[in-house]
Amino acid sequence: MSVRVRFAPSPTGLLHIGALRTVLFDFVFAARHGGTNILRIEDTDRERYNPESEAEFIETLAWVGITFQEGPHVGGPHGPYRQSERKEAGIYAKWIQVLLEKGHAYKAFETKEELDEMREFQQVNKQPTGYFGGNWRDASPEKVAEAEAAGKPYVIRQRIPRDRKVVTEDFIRGRVEFDSNTLPDPVLIKADGMPTYHFAAMVDDHLMEITHVLRGEEWISSFPYHWVLFEQFGWTPPVFVHCPVIVGTDGKKLSKRHGATRVLDYAAQGYLKGSLKNFIALIGWSPGDDRELLTEAELIASFSLEGLQPSPGRFDIEKLKWINGNEIRSMSPDACLGALLDYINTPYTREYWEAFVDENPMPNKPPIDGKQIWARLDRVRAAAAQDREYLTKAIAEEQARVTTLADFGEAVEFFLLEEPPMDAKAVEKWFGQSHVPALLDTIEAAVKANPNLDIDGFQELLIGFQTEQGFEKLGPVVHPTRVALTGKTFGPGLYQLMAILGPDRILARLARARTLLTS
Ligand code: GLU
Repeated sequence: MSVRVRFAPSPTGLLHIGALRTVLFDFVFAARHGGTNILRIEDTDRERYNPESEAEFIETLAWVGITFQEGPHVGGPHGPYRQSERKEAGIYAKWIQVLLEKGHAYKAFETKEELDEMREFQQVNKQPTGYFGGNWRDASPEKVAEAEAAGKPYVIRQRIPRDRKVVTEDFIRGRVEFDSNTLPDPVLIKADGMPTYHFAAMVDDHLMEITHVLRGEEWISSFPYHWVLFEQFGWTPPVFVHCPVIVGTDGKKLSKRHGATRVLDYAAQGYLKGSLKNFIALIGWSPGDDRELLTEAELIASFSLEGLQPSPGRFDIEKLKWINGNEIRSMSPDACLGALLDYINTPYTREYWEAFVDENPMPNKPPIDGKQIWARLDRVRAAAAQDREYLTKAIAEEQARVTTLADFGEAVEFFLLEEPPMDAKAVEKWFGQSHVPALLDTIEAAVKANPNLDIDGFQELLIGFQTEQGFEKLGPVVHPTRVALTGKTFGPGLYQLMAILGPDRILARLARARTLLTS
Protein backbone atom coordinates (compact mmCIF):
# COMPACT_ATOMS: atom_id res chain seq x y z
CA MET A 1 0.00 0.00 0.00
CA SER A 2 1.52 3.30 -0.95
CA VAL A 3 1.93 6.07 1.57
CA ARG A 4 -0.81 8.72 1.65
CA VAL A 5 -0.50 11.59 4.09
CA ARG A 6 -2.51 14.76 4.56
CA PHE A 7 -1.90 18.22 5.89
CA ALA A 8 -5.25 19.37 7.20
CA PRO A 9 -5.10 22.96 8.41
CA SER A 10 -8.10 24.88 9.66
CA PRO A 11 -8.11 28.18 7.78
CA THR A 12 -8.39 30.42 10.79
CA GLY A 13 -5.22 32.46 10.55
CA LEU A 14 -1.58 32.51 9.58
CA LEU A 15 0.71 29.55 8.95
CA HIS A 16 3.07 29.14 11.90
CA ILE A 17 6.20 27.13 12.59
CA GLY A 18 4.42 24.18 14.24
CA ALA A 19 2.17 23.62 11.26
CA LEU A 20 5.10 24.02 8.90
CA ARG A 21 6.92 21.23 10.66
CA THR A 22 3.91 18.91 10.34
CA VAL A 23 3.54 19.55 6.65
CA LEU A 24 7.28 19.28 6.09
CA PHE A 25 7.27 15.84 7.68
CA ASP A 26 4.28 14.90 5.50
CA PHE A 27 6.11 16.11 2.43
CA VAL A 28 9.44 14.38 3.04
CA PHE A 29 7.79 11.19 4.25
CA ALA A 30 5.61 10.99 1.13
CA ALA A 31 8.57 11.83 -1.10
CA ARG A 32 10.74 9.21 0.61
CA HIS A 33 8.19 6.52 -0.17
CA GLY A 34 7.00 7.74 -3.55
CA GLY A 35 3.68 8.44 -1.85
CA THR A 36 1.01 11.11 -2.06
CA ASN A 37 0.88 14.35 -0.10
CA ILE A 38 -2.62 15.76 0.23
CA LEU A 39 -3.82 19.21 1.28
CA ARG A 40 -7.24 19.22 2.90
CA ILE A 41 -8.84 22.41 4.13
CA GLU A 42 -10.77 21.86 7.35
CA ASP A 43 -13.13 24.80 7.19
CA THR A 44 -16.14 23.50 9.09
CA ASP A 45 -15.77 25.96 11.95
CA ARG A 46 -17.48 28.88 10.25
CA GLU A 47 -17.10 31.15 13.28
CA ARG A 48 -13.31 31.01 13.20
CA TYR A 49 -13.12 30.83 9.40
CA ASN A 50 -10.84 33.44 7.87
CA PRO A 51 -11.24 33.82 4.12
CA GLU A 52 -7.62 34.94 3.63
CA SER A 53 -6.16 32.02 5.45
CA GLU A 54 -6.29 29.41 2.68
CA ALA A 55 -4.44 31.74 0.31
CA GLU A 56 -1.87 32.35 3.08
CA PHE A 57 -1.29 28.59 3.37
CA ILE A 58 -0.94 28.12 -0.34
CA GLU A 59 1.40 31.10 -0.71
CA THR A 60 3.57 30.01 2.21
CA LEU A 61 3.82 26.41 1.10
CA ALA A 62 4.65 27.50 -2.43
CA TRP A 63 7.46 29.69 -1.07
CA VAL A 64 8.88 26.87 1.05
CA GLY A 65 8.57 24.52 -1.92
CA ILE A 66 6.22 22.00 -0.35
CA THR A 67 4.08 20.44 -3.04
CA PHE A 68 0.94 18.36 -3.01
CA GLN A 69 -0.32 15.74 -5.40
CA GLU A 70 -3.91 16.29 -4.29
CA GLY A 71 -5.66 19.31 -2.85
CA PRO A 72 -8.14 22.09 -3.52
CA HIS A 73 -5.63 23.93 -5.70
CA VAL A 74 -4.51 20.90 -7.74
CA GLY A 75 -7.57 18.62 -7.71
CA GLY A 76 -7.38 14.85 -7.39
CA PRO A 77 -9.52 11.71 -7.29
CA HIS A 78 -10.76 12.16 -3.70
CA GLY A 79 -12.15 15.67 -3.99
CA PRO A 80 -13.54 17.99 -3.07
CA TYR A 81 -10.70 18.84 -0.68
CA ARG A 82 -12.50 21.54 1.30
CA GLN A 83 -14.68 20.15 4.03
CA SER A 84 -17.38 22.79 3.51
CA GLU A 85 -17.73 21.50 -0.05
CA ARG A 86 -17.69 17.90 1.13
CA LYS A 87 -20.52 18.78 3.49
CA GLU A 88 -22.51 20.25 0.58
CA ALA A 89 -21.87 17.02 -1.34
CA GLY A 90 -23.65 15.11 1.46
CA ILE A 91 -20.61 13.07 2.49
CA TYR A 92 -20.90 13.60 6.23
CA ALA A 93 -24.69 13.24 6.25
CA LYS A 94 -24.30 9.81 4.73
CA TRP A 95 -21.74 8.61 7.25
CA ILE A 96 -23.45 10.02 10.33
CA GLN A 97 -26.49 8.01 9.25
CA VAL A 98 -24.37 4.87 9.42
CA LEU A 99 -23.32 5.66 12.98
CA LEU A 100 -26.88 6.52 14.03
CA GLU A 101 -28.13 3.24 12.65
CA LYS A 102 -25.43 1.30 14.45
CA GLY A 103 -26.30 3.09 17.68
CA HIS A 104 -22.87 4.72 17.94
CA ALA A 105 -24.30 8.21 17.69
CA TYR A 106 -27.42 9.84 19.00
CA LYS A 107 -29.36 13.05 18.74
CA ALA A 108 -29.24 15.37 21.73
CA PHE A 109 -31.78 18.18 22.06
CA GLU A 110 -30.50 20.14 25.08
CA THR A 111 -30.76 23.89 24.80
CA LYS A 112 -27.79 26.12 25.53
CA GLU A 113 -29.35 27.01 28.88
CA GLU A 114 -29.70 23.35 29.81
CA LEU A 115 -26.06 22.72 28.92
CA ASP A 116 -24.92 25.72 30.97
CA GLU A 117 -26.93 24.46 33.90
CA MET A 118 -25.39 21.02 33.55
CA ARG A 119 -21.89 22.47 33.60
CA GLU A 120 -22.65 24.59 36.61
CA PHE A 121 -24.05 21.60 38.48
CA GLN A 122 -20.93 19.59 37.64
CA GLN A 123 -18.66 22.38 38.81
CA VAL A 124 -20.52 22.91 42.07
CA ASN A 125 -20.47 19.19 42.78
CA LYS A 126 -16.83 18.80 41.69
CA GLN A 127 -17.77 16.32 38.99
CA PRO A 128 -15.89 15.98 35.72
CA THR A 129 -17.31 18.55 33.32
CA GLY A 130 -18.63 17.63 29.91
CA TYR A 131 -21.55 15.89 28.32
CA PHE A 132 -21.72 12.31 29.53
CA GLY A 133 -25.19 11.50 28.25
CA GLY A 134 -27.54 14.19 29.55
CA ASN A 135 -31.17 13.50 28.85
CA TRP A 136 -30.68 11.96 25.49
CA ARG A 137 -28.03 9.26 25.38
CA ASP A 138 -30.50 6.74 26.69
CA ALA A 139 -33.73 8.40 25.55
CA SER A 140 -36.37 6.16 24.01
CA PRO A 141 -36.86 6.28 20.23
CA GLU A 142 -40.34 7.71 20.88
CA LYS A 143 -39.01 10.61 22.92
CA VAL A 144 -36.46 11.40 20.21
CA ALA A 145 -39.10 11.18 17.46
CA GLU A 146 -41.34 13.51 19.42
CA ALA A 147 -38.65 16.13 19.91
CA GLU A 148 -37.76 15.91 16.26
CA ALA A 149 -41.38 16.21 15.17
CA ALA A 150 -41.67 19.31 17.36
CA GLY A 151 -38.84 20.80 15.34
CA LYS A 152 -36.45 21.13 18.30
CA PRO A 153 -32.88 21.80 17.23
CA TYR A 154 -30.38 19.06 18.02
CA VAL A 155 -26.78 18.04 17.68
CA ILE A 156 -25.55 14.52 16.98
CA ARG A 157 -23.12 13.14 19.54
CA GLN A 158 -20.78 10.22 19.54
CA ARG A 159 -21.77 7.48 21.99
CA ILE A 160 -18.48 6.78 23.75
CA PRO A 161 -18.63 3.26 25.20
CA ARG A 162 -18.50 3.31 29.01
CA ASP A 163 -16.64 1.27 31.62
CA ARG A 164 -13.72 0.23 29.48
CA LYS A 165 -10.29 1.27 28.44
CA VAL A 166 -9.69 2.86 25.09
CA VAL A 167 -6.35 1.45 24.01
CA THR A 168 -4.89 3.58 21.28
CA GLU A 169 -1.71 3.07 19.35
CA ASP A 170 0.58 5.99 18.62
CA PHE A 171 3.64 5.39 16.46
CA ILE A 172 5.99 7.27 18.76
CA ARG A 173 4.52 6.48 22.17
CA GLY A 174 3.18 3.00 21.52
CA ARG A 175 0.04 2.06 23.49
CA VAL A 176 -1.70 4.98 25.12
CA GLU A 177 -4.66 4.07 27.32
CA PHE A 178 -7.63 6.21 28.27
CA ASP A 179 -10.42 5.45 30.74
CA SER A 180 -13.57 5.72 28.62
CA ASN A 181 -15.52 7.09 31.59
CA THR A 182 -13.40 10.26 31.45
CA LEU A 183 -14.37 10.93 27.83
CA PRO A 184 -17.49 13.06 27.32
CA ASP A 185 -19.64 12.31 24.27
CA PRO A 186 -18.39 14.81 21.67
CA VAL A 187 -20.58 16.55 19.13
CA LEU A 188 -20.12 15.10 15.65
CA ILE A 189 -22.75 17.14 13.80
CA LYS A 190 -23.67 20.63 14.94
CA ALA A 191 -27.20 22.02 15.04
CA ASP A 192 -26.70 23.67 11.65
CA GLY A 193 -25.75 20.35 10.11
CA MET A 194 -22.03 21.15 9.94
CA PRO A 195 -19.73 18.33 11.02
CA THR A 196 -17.22 19.03 13.77
CA TYR A 197 -13.51 18.56 13.28
CA HIS A 198 -13.54 15.19 15.08
CA PHE A 199 -16.04 13.70 12.71
CA ALA A 200 -15.09 15.30 9.42
CA ALA A 201 -11.38 14.71 9.83
CA MET A 202 -11.73 11.01 10.60
CA VAL A 203 -14.32 10.33 7.90
CA ASP A 204 -12.06 12.08 5.42
CA ASP A 205 -8.94 10.28 6.58
CA HIS A 206 -10.76 7.04 5.86
CA LEU A 207 -12.30 8.09 2.54
CA MET A 208 -9.06 9.64 1.33
CA GLU A 209 -7.27 6.41 2.23
CA ILE A 210 -4.79 8.15 4.49
CA THR A 211 -2.16 5.70 5.68
CA HIS A 212 -0.36 7.93 8.22
CA VAL A 213 -1.73 10.85 10.22
CA LEU A 214 1.11 13.14 11.24
CA ARG A 215 0.09 15.93 13.56
CA GLY A 216 1.19 17.81 16.64
CA GLU A 217 1.16 16.29 20.09
CA GLU A 218 -1.59 18.70 21.14
CA TRP A 219 -4.03 16.37 19.38
CA ILE A 220 -3.33 13.48 21.76
CA SER A 221 -6.30 14.46 23.91
CA SER A 222 -8.61 14.15 20.90
CA PHE A 223 -7.02 10.90 19.88
CA PRO A 224 -9.24 8.47 21.86
CA TYR A 225 -12.37 9.93 20.23
CA HIS A 226 -10.82 9.41 16.84
CA TRP A 227 -9.71 5.92 17.68
CA VAL A 228 -13.19 4.98 18.93
CA LEU A 229 -14.75 6.43 15.77
CA PHE A 230 -12.65 4.13 13.63
CA GLU A 231 -13.72 1.22 15.85
CA GLN A 232 -17.37 2.20 15.61
CA PHE A 233 -17.24 2.37 11.84
CA GLY A 234 -15.29 -0.88 11.71
CA TRP A 235 -12.54 0.80 9.72
CA THR A 236 -8.83 0.11 10.04
CA PRO A 237 -7.21 3.22 11.52
CA PRO A 238 -4.26 4.86 9.84
CA VAL A 239 -0.94 4.96 11.66
CA PHE A 240 -1.17 7.92 14.03
CA VAL A 241 2.05 9.85 14.61
CA HIS A 242 1.81 12.63 17.18
CA CYS A 243 4.92 14.71 16.63
CA PRO A 244 6.74 16.05 19.70
CA VAL A 245 5.75 19.40 21.04
CA ILE A 246 8.00 22.34 20.14
CA VAL A 247 9.54 24.33 22.99
CA GLY A 248 11.77 27.38 23.14
CA THR A 249 15.33 27.28 24.49
CA ASP A 250 13.84 27.97 27.92
CA GLY A 251 11.94 24.69 27.72
CA LYS A 252 8.56 26.45 27.60
CA LYS A 253 5.97 25.77 24.94
CA LEU A 254 6.73 27.76 21.81
CA SER A 255 5.01 31.11 21.78
CA LYS A 256 5.26 34.27 19.76
CA ARG A 257 8.04 35.45 22.04
CA HIS A 258 10.20 32.51 20.95
CA GLY A 259 9.55 32.96 17.28
CA ALA A 260 6.26 31.16 16.77
CA THR A 261 5.58 33.77 14.18
CA ARG A 262 4.24 33.64 10.66
CA VAL A 263 6.39 31.52 8.38
CA LEU A 264 6.38 34.24 5.74
CA ASP A 265 8.05 36.53 8.29
CA TYR A 266 11.08 34.24 8.23
CA ALA A 267 11.19 34.69 4.46
CA ALA A 268 10.94 38.46 4.94
CA GLN A 269 13.75 38.39 7.50
CA GLY A 270 16.01 36.87 4.87
CA TYR A 271 16.04 33.18 5.73
CA LEU A 272 16.37 30.82 2.79
CA LYS A 273 13.73 28.18 2.31
CA GLY A 274 16.33 25.39 2.25
CA SER A 275 17.73 26.50 5.60
CA LEU A 276 14.31 26.89 7.12
CA LYS A 277 13.35 23.36 6.04
CA ASN A 278 16.63 21.98 7.32
CA PHE A 279 16.16 23.74 10.66
CA ILE A 280 12.50 22.84 11.11
CA ALA A 281 13.05 19.18 10.25
CA LEU A 282 15.56 18.87 13.08
CA ILE A 283 13.04 19.99 15.70
CA GLY A 284 12.06 16.69 17.24
CA TRP A 285 13.56 14.57 14.48
CA SER A 286 17.07 13.37 13.83
CA PRO A 287 18.59 11.58 10.83
CA GLY A 288 20.14 9.06 13.22
CA ASP A 289 23.64 10.49 12.98
CA ASP A 290 25.08 13.85 13.90
CA ARG A 291 24.51 15.60 10.61
CA GLU A 292 22.95 19.03 11.05
CA LEU A 293 23.23 20.44 7.56
CA LEU A 294 20.92 18.62 5.20
CA THR A 295 19.67 19.57 1.77
CA GLU A 296 16.09 18.79 0.84
CA ALA A 297 17.25 15.72 -1.08
CA GLU A 298 19.21 14.52 1.96
CA LEU A 299 16.22 15.12 4.21
CA ILE A 300 14.06 13.02 1.93
CA ALA A 301 16.67 10.28 1.66
CA SER A 302 17.15 10.04 5.42
CA PHE A 303 13.64 10.69 6.73
CA SER A 304 12.00 7.94 8.72
CA LEU A 305 9.32 8.02 11.39
CA GLU A 306 11.70 6.13 13.67
CA GLY A 307 13.85 9.27 13.81
CA LEU A 308 11.06 11.17 15.59
CA GLN A 309 11.70 11.62 19.29
CA PRO A 310 9.08 11.52 22.02
CA SER A 311 10.78 14.33 23.94
CA PRO A 312 10.02 17.97 23.08
CA GLY A 313 11.88 19.50 20.14
CA ARG A 314 13.77 22.73 20.75
CA PHE A 315 13.34 25.81 18.66
CA ASP A 316 16.66 27.63 18.78
CA ILE A 317 16.85 30.65 16.50
CA GLU A 318 20.66 30.70 16.81
CA LYS A 319 20.75 27.36 15.07
CA LEU A 320 18.59 28.67 12.25
CA LYS A 321 21.00 31.59 11.86
CA TRP A 322 23.94 29.22 11.75
CA ILE A 323 22.31 26.99 9.13
CA ASN A 324 21.29 30.01 7.06
CA GLY A 325 24.76 31.56 7.19
CA ASN A 326 26.17 28.26 6.02
CA GLU A 327 23.80 28.07 3.10
CA ILE A 328 24.62 31.63 2.07
CA ARG A 329 28.33 30.85 2.17
CA SER A 330 27.89 27.68 0.16
CA MET A 331 26.33 29.48 -2.83
CA SER A 332 28.20 30.82 -5.81
CA PRO A 333 28.23 34.64 -5.76
CA ASP A 334 25.95 34.69 -8.80
CA ALA A 335 23.43 32.35 -7.19
CA CYS A 336 23.63 34.32 -3.97
CA LEU A 337 22.93 37.59 -5.73
CA GLY A 338 20.05 35.90 -7.57
CA ALA A 339 18.55 34.76 -4.25
CA LEU A 340 19.09 38.21 -2.78
CA LEU A 341 17.33 39.95 -5.65
CA ASP A 342 14.41 37.50 -5.53
CA TYR A 343 14.17 38.29 -1.85
CA ILE A 344 14.26 42.05 -2.38
CA ASN A 345 11.73 41.86 -5.20
CA THR A 346 9.22 39.91 -3.11
CA PRO A 347 6.63 42.55 -2.16
CA TYR A 348 6.23 41.21 1.36
CA THR A 349 9.92 41.89 2.15
CA ARG A 350 9.33 45.60 1.81
CA GLU A 351 5.98 45.49 3.60
CA TYR A 352 7.52 43.58 6.49
CA TRP A 353 10.47 45.90 7.03
CA GLU A 354 8.57 49.10 6.52
CA ALA A 355 6.08 48.09 9.19
CA PHE A 356 8.69 46.51 11.48
CA VAL A 357 8.69 47.50 15.15
CA ASP A 358 11.50 46.13 17.29
CA GLU A 359 9.72 44.85 20.36
CA ASN A 360 12.79 43.25 21.94
CA PRO A 361 15.80 45.48 21.29
CA MET A 362 19.11 43.88 22.23
CA PRO A 363 20.56 45.24 25.46
CA ASN A 364 22.84 48.24 24.84
CA LYS A 365 21.84 48.46 21.21
CA PRO A 366 19.43 50.81 19.47
CA PRO A 367 16.22 49.14 18.29
CA ILE A 368 16.33 47.64 14.79
CA ASP A 369 15.21 50.22 12.26
CA GLY A 370 13.12 48.36 9.69
CA LYS A 371 12.82 51.34 7.36
CA GLN A 372 16.59 51.66 7.24
CA ILE A 373 16.94 47.94 6.52
CA TRP A 374 14.53 48.31 3.63
CA ALA A 375 16.28 51.44 2.30
CA ARG A 376 19.58 49.56 2.23
CA LEU A 377 18.04 46.58 0.44
CA ASP A 378 16.43 48.89 -2.06
CA ARG A 379 19.85 50.36 -2.75
CA VAL A 380 21.11 46.86 -3.55
CA ARG A 381 18.33 46.49 -6.10
CA ALA A 382 19.32 49.76 -7.76
CA ALA A 383 22.99 48.73 -7.75
CA ALA A 384 22.15 45.44 -9.48
CA ALA A 385 20.56 47.35 -12.34
CA GLN A 386 23.52 49.73 -12.57
CA ASP A 387 26.58 47.52 -12.29
CA ARG A 388 25.82 43.89 -11.60
CA GLU A 389 29.42 42.78 -11.93
CA TYR A 390 30.63 45.16 -9.24
CA LEU A 391 27.76 44.16 -6.96
CA THR A 392 28.52 40.47 -7.47
CA LYS A 393 32.10 41.03 -6.32
CA ALA A 394 30.89 42.92 -3.26
CA ILE A 395 28.44 40.11 -2.47
CA ALA A 396 31.20 37.52 -2.84
CA GLU A 397 33.28 39.37 -0.24
CA GLU A 398 30.45 39.67 2.25
CA GLN A 399 28.98 36.16 1.94
CA ALA A 400 31.18 34.93 4.75
CA ARG A 401 30.04 37.66 7.09
CA VAL A 402 26.24 37.64 6.91
CA THR A 403 23.61 35.45 8.52
CA THR A 404 20.54 36.45 6.55
CA LEU A 405 19.87 37.94 3.13
CA ALA A 406 18.68 41.09 4.90
CA ASP A 407 22.19 41.55 6.35
CA PHE A 408 23.57 42.15 2.86
CA GLY A 409 21.96 45.59 2.77
CA GLU A 410 24.23 46.87 5.52
CA ALA A 411 27.19 44.67 4.62
CA VAL A 412 27.59 45.97 1.06
CA GLU A 413 26.47 49.51 1.81
CA PHE A 414 29.99 50.93 1.86
CA PHE A 415 30.63 49.46 -1.59
CA LEU A 416 27.55 51.18 -2.99
CA LEU A 417 27.44 54.59 -1.38
CA GLU A 418 29.58 57.30 -2.88
CA GLU A 419 30.16 58.67 0.57
CA PRO A 420 29.78 55.88 3.09
CA PRO A 421 29.05 57.02 6.65
CA MET A 422 32.25 57.42 8.65
CA ASP A 423 32.74 55.79 12.03
CA ALA A 424 33.42 58.87 14.13
CA LYS A 425 35.43 57.02 16.75
CA ALA A 426 37.69 55.48 14.12
CA VAL A 427 38.19 58.84 12.44
CA GLU A 428 39.16 60.33 15.78
CA LYS A 429 41.52 57.49 16.54
CA TRP A 430 43.40 57.39 13.24
CA PHE A 431 42.99 60.61 11.32
CA GLY A 432 45.04 62.67 13.75
CA GLN A 433 48.13 60.50 13.41
CA SER A 434 51.04 62.18 11.71
CA HIS A 435 51.77 59.48 9.12
CA VAL A 436 48.23 59.34 7.74
CA PRO A 437 48.44 62.26 5.27
CA ALA A 438 51.53 60.64 3.72
CA LEU A 439 49.75 57.29 3.63
CA LEU A 440 46.80 58.76 1.71
CA ASP A 441 49.21 60.53 -0.67
CA THR A 442 51.13 57.33 -1.30
CA ILE A 443 47.98 55.38 -2.16
CA GLU A 444 46.73 58.18 -4.39
CA ALA A 445 49.99 58.40 -6.29
CA ALA A 446 50.19 54.64 -6.76
CA VAL A 447 46.60 54.37 -8.02
CA LYS A 448 47.08 57.24 -10.41
CA ALA A 449 50.30 55.71 -11.70
CA ASN A 450 48.72 52.30 -12.15
CA PRO A 451 44.91 52.25 -12.23
CA ASN A 452 44.99 48.47 -12.62
CA LEU A 453 46.62 47.65 -9.30
CA ASP A 454 45.49 44.20 -8.22
CA ILE A 455 45.32 42.49 -4.83
CA ASP A 456 49.04 41.73 -4.80
CA GLY A 457 49.83 45.25 -5.97
CA PHE A 458 47.90 46.79 -3.06
CA GLN A 459 49.55 44.45 -0.62
CA GLU A 460 52.99 45.40 -1.90
CA LEU A 461 52.08 49.07 -1.74
CA LEU A 462 50.94 49.04 1.88
CA ILE A 463 53.74 46.79 3.10
CA GLY A 464 56.17 49.10 1.28
CA PHE A 465 54.73 52.05 3.21
CA GLN A 466 55.06 50.15 6.48
CA THR A 467 58.74 49.40 5.82
CA GLU A 468 59.43 52.93 4.75
CA GLN A 469 57.90 54.32 7.94
CA GLY A 470 59.64 51.72 10.05
CA PHE A 471 56.41 50.44 11.61
CA GLU A 472 56.74 47.14 13.40
CA LYS A 473 53.15 46.23 12.68
CA LEU A 474 50.83 46.73 9.75
CA GLY A 475 48.01 48.12 11.90
CA PRO A 476 48.87 51.83 11.57
CA VAL A 477 48.78 51.36 7.79
CA VAL A 478 45.75 49.16 7.17
CA HIS A 479 43.40 50.61 9.79
CA PRO A 480 43.41 54.23 8.59
CA THR A 481 43.31 53.03 4.98
CA ARG A 482 40.24 50.93 5.72
CA VAL A 483 38.54 53.79 7.53
CA ALA A 484 39.34 56.16 4.67
CA LEU A 485 37.92 53.78 2.05
CA THR A 486 34.97 52.20 3.86
CA GLY A 487 34.20 54.38 6.87
CA LYS A 488 34.43 51.27 9.05
CA THR A 489 36.98 49.40 11.11
CA PHE A 490 35.97 45.90 9.99
CA GLY A 491 35.03 44.17 6.79
CA PRO A 492 36.50 41.98 4.07
CA GLY A 493 40.23 41.69 3.39
CA LEU A 494 41.59 45.17 2.69
CA TYR A 495 43.59 44.36 -0.46
CA GLN A 496 40.62 42.51 -1.98
CA LEU A 497 38.26 45.32 -1.29
CA MET A 498 40.69 47.88 -2.74
CA ALA A 499 40.90 45.83 -5.90
CA ILE A 500 37.10 45.67 -6.06
CA LEU A 501 36.57 49.38 -5.37
CA GLY A 502 38.88 50.26 -8.26
CA PRO A 503 40.75 53.51 -8.95
CA ASP A 504 37.86 55.97 -9.31
CA ARG A 505 36.19 55.10 -6.05
CA ILE A 506 39.51 54.92 -4.23
CA LEU A 507 40.53 58.38 -5.41
CA ALA A 508 37.18 59.93 -4.53
CA ARG A 509 37.23 58.39 -1.06
CA LEU A 510 40.80 59.41 -0.41
CA ALA A 511 39.91 62.98 -1.34
CA ARG A 512 37.04 62.92 1.12
CA ALA A 513 39.17 61.36 3.86
CA ARG A 514 41.67 64.13 3.41
CA THR A 515 39.03 66.68 4.40
CA LEU A 516 38.58 64.82 7.68
CA LEU A 517 42.24 64.74 8.66
CA THR A 518 42.96 66.43 11.94
CA SER A 519 46.75 66.18 12.02
N1 GLU B 1 -7.64 20.88 11.34
C1 GLU B 1 -6.74 20.47 12.38
C2 GLU B 1 -5.79 21.63 12.64
O1 GLU B 1 -6.12 22.72 12.38
C3 GLU B 1 -6.02 19.22 11.96
C4 GLU B 1 -5.67 18.28 13.06
C5 GLU B 1 -5.29 16.92 12.52
O2 GLU B 1 -4.27 16.88 11.82
O3 GLU B 1 -5.99 15.95 12.74
O4 GLU B 1 -4.70 21.50 13.08
